[in-house]
Amino acid sequence: MNQQSSQDSLFSLIRDVPDFPKPGILFKDITPVLECPESFSQLIEQMCEGLPPEANKLVGIESRGFLLASAMAKHSHKGLVIARKPGKLPGPVLRQTYALEYGQDEIQIHQGSLSSSDRIVIVDDVLATGGTAQACEKLCLSAETEVLGFSFMMEIAALQGRNLLKAPVHCLYSVK
Ligand code: AMP
Repeated sequence: MNQQSSQDSLFSLIRDVPDFPKPGILFKDITPVLECPESFSQLIEQMCEGLPPEANKLVGIESRGFLLASAMAKHSHKGLVIARKPGKLPGPVLRQTYALEYGQDEIQIHQGSLSSSDRIVIVDDVLATGGTAQACEKLCLSAETEVLGFSFMMEIAALQGRNLLKAPVHCLYSVK
């Protein structure tokens, strides 16, 4: 199978779930890709092809970002750092708050997980409004780390999330 048809077959596995987790959201469910070993392997290989070779760590965003970033870290021999919601990491943390439609949320990494010598790529499954990814980028910059880019499986282009991000964005798929 050539690269285009393997990308098409991966994309066809993504399931659209209307009105989840709340009315009006068309949820892009990647779990069918993860359930198929060949598709999961292809996905990880293709996402790793877009990584800058000089990156030494990947930062996975809770929670589906963990699934992709951990497999990518193993495949590309890079370190893995996890960016988590409050109350999940046991040690001292760096934190970054960000606005939601109603209220605010926070993302955290362990203090000492990143330093000024690290060059990182931030990984998640879907780039939507970009608020979460932007908060993660700010968090990594606050650790004086160089953010080389973002790697998403998919971008919802109409939401223009990439406009919030300073570092270059790599997405395997773009949907309206
Ligand atoms: P964002 O709006 O870009 O801050 O997205 C927040 C988080 O929710 C990201 O980690 C995405 O994985 C997830 N997300 C947002 N919108 C969707 C969607 N339509 N389908 C699947 N996941 C989504």
